Amino acid sequence: MNKNSIIWLRRDLRLYDNAALFHALKDSNQVFPVFIFDIKILSELKNKKDRRIEFILRSLDEIKKSLNEKGSDLIVEMGDPESLIPKLITEYKCKSLYINRDYEKYAKDRDNTISEILSNKEVTTLRFKDQVLFENNEILTQSNNPYTVFTPYKNNHLKRLNEQGIDLYNCENHKDSFAKFAHKALPTLEDLTFEKTNLDDLDLPAGTSGGKELLKKFCNNIKNYSTNRNFPAVRGVSYLSVHNRFGTLSIRHLAKLAIETDNDGASTWLSELIWRDFYFQIIANFPQVSEKKSFKSQFENLPFENDENKFEAWKNGLTGFPIIDAAMRQINQTGYMHNRLRMIVSSFLVKDLLIDWRWGEQYFEDNLIDFDFSANNGGWQWAASTGCDSQPYFRIFNPVLQSEKFDRDGVFIKKYIPQLAPLSSKEIHQPWVYFEKDKDTFPIKLGIDYPFPIVDHKIQRDKALSMYKACK
Ligand SMILES: Cc1cc2nc3c(=O)[nH]c(=O)nc-3n(C[C@H](O)[C@H](O)[C@H](O)COP(=O)(O)OP(=O)(O)OC[C@H]3O[C@@H](n4cnc5c(N)ncnc54)[C@H](O)[C@@H]3O)c2cc1C
Repeated sequence: MNKNSIIWLRRDLRLYDNAALFHALKDSNQVFPVFIFDIKILSELKNKKDRRIEFILRSLDEIKKSLNEKGSDLIVEMGDPESLIPKLITEYKCKSLYINRDYEKYAKDRDNTISEILSNKEVTTLRFKDQVLFENNEILTQSNNPYTVFTPYKNNHLKRLNEQGIDLYNCENHKDSFAKFAHKALPTLEDLTFEKTNLDDLDLPAGTSGGKELLKKFCNNIKNYSTNRNFPAVRGVSYLSVHNRFGTLSIRHLAKLAIETDNDGASTWLSELIWRDFYFQIIANFPQVSEKKSFKSQFENLPFENDENKFEAWKNGLTGFPIIDAAMRQINQTGYMHNRLRMIVSSFLVKDLLIDWRWGEQYFEDNLIDFDFSANNGGWQWAASTGCDSQPYFRIFNPVLQSEKFDRDGVFIKKYIPQLAPLSSKEIHQPWVYFEKDKDTFPIKLGIDYPFPIVDHKIQRDKALSMYKACK
């Protein structure tokens, strides 16, 4: 064997249990690890303080240091992968490119183009499944169709997981194949035309070490996941979505751990990991969703009101509904939002403010540190009732009841809206009702300290029902 190869890291920023890396190391005698900041992707990021760029840079820094300890290095460039990958292949005299499959449209097209360019140079592109447990059409119905309903998909998925078991790729066994070379320093945020964010102030440590740290914390409490996961003020969820997004942890590692942890919490958590696979197979099998089309075609042209002022109020956490505003302030301040809150604010945008779900989807895309097209599109279409296995259109969350149920004492609300701190557990969910009763003694001045609600839920609910009924 005398083969040089490139492992091109993208959404798999780790050196352990990485399918493409394992095969590259096993089958080559010199492996050159590469990461490219794709200028086409960077140029679409409007916010120069994008936490994702900082998260990626930190994760790359950890990889680079670990490779340096092995006498190897990480090649990091900024530019167009369609020209850079072939250039690096020539420069390092490589015969193969190893990549893990990406299921998003832009990435699939890009990878196909690069593979074609390379095949003209007699360089092979080898692709592996790594991001998901089961991909594309691996899990099908009895009539060999992709699933569009989650529960039967999950049952089949679990059956297959139990039958096959989960093996991790031991990259460490082949570490001698990392090429011994030295490359230039990592680019800085400024080189990439981005700015420092508040990532240091958040509990979202980057890199595989950061992911393992969060995982360890979560494992101490995983048994309570089923009961705690709906309460944003409680540390009940794993906060690992950004690590799943960038592959700093491996999904096989997480699923194996969940299977081996024999309690209710771990099984419920495993179901969430399967939701992730479910939405990946939706984008693979139903390409229309990647064109931002409704999964249910009858709801493609819902006559939304799309009021810009209401959208601004939603984005800025100024709707006058404390649970909505606290959730929107969470995403704005941290880049993360708790799942229960994602469900509440998305439903509110579509069915209370009567704004196109795609506007909200785009806002999440621009602001979530864990943004993933498949899960985000799936979540928004679920809330808007336009998706495959979505909420029925007539199920409309009441933001006040949701608030009372999932943030009973307003602990989460008060964290993000300190102006509401003086309110009691009863008042905090709908301050306008108690303010109107006695304006002089109410602890805050509505309209000054905090806005009046911008809509009346009952009226908007009726409007939403009529809007959907007209199209169903
Ligand atoms: C409107 C809306 C938009 C969403 N956008 C995204 C997104 O862009 N990126 C994203 O990763 N998740 C998204 N989700 C799903 C979910 O809210 C997040 O994955 C979760 O809140 C992340 O927190 P966690 O890591 O603590 O989750 P945990 O509860 O600890 O779950 C573990 C992991 O399972 C996966 N997961 C959990 N729930 C879902 C789900 N419903 N769909 C797919 N995967 C899931 C995630 O990878 C998560 O890290 C969205 C949900 C909604 C309703």
